[in-house]
Amino acid sequence: MALDFDGVICASAPGDDDIAGRGPIPGALESLRFLLSRYAVFVLTARDVKEVIPWLNSYGFATDSDNGGPTWTLRDQLLVTNRKIPADIYLDDKAIRFWNWEQSMDQIERFSGGV
Ligand SMILES: [Mg+2]
Repeated sequence: MALDFDGVICASAPGDDDIAGRGPIPGALESLRFLLSRYAVFVLTARDVKEVIPWLNSYGFATDSDNGGPTWTLRDQLLVTNRKIPADIYLDDKAIRFWNWEQSMDQIERFSGGV
């Protein structure tokens, strides 16, 4: 299971790219602990992983950095990566679920105000 970092785990702050002073999204830490007890979870982020790992560690999460393996299967620690590793679920605050192009283009148009 892949989780986005900004806006899903860590609160977003428009115009402020520094995560050091930001807290978690309400419910994120508890949910993350529950998910880690049941699934192999990795954080998929566009950020430098060296920035994200200390933030997660500060909330008590054991982390691992990407070794380039084809999958992530460990349940007791979070992988933090920039790589889109295969997963059953990708949780992202900016995602649109793809069913077909007609539906996707409609949602893109409504979201962006026009294609
Ligand atoms: Mg995000």
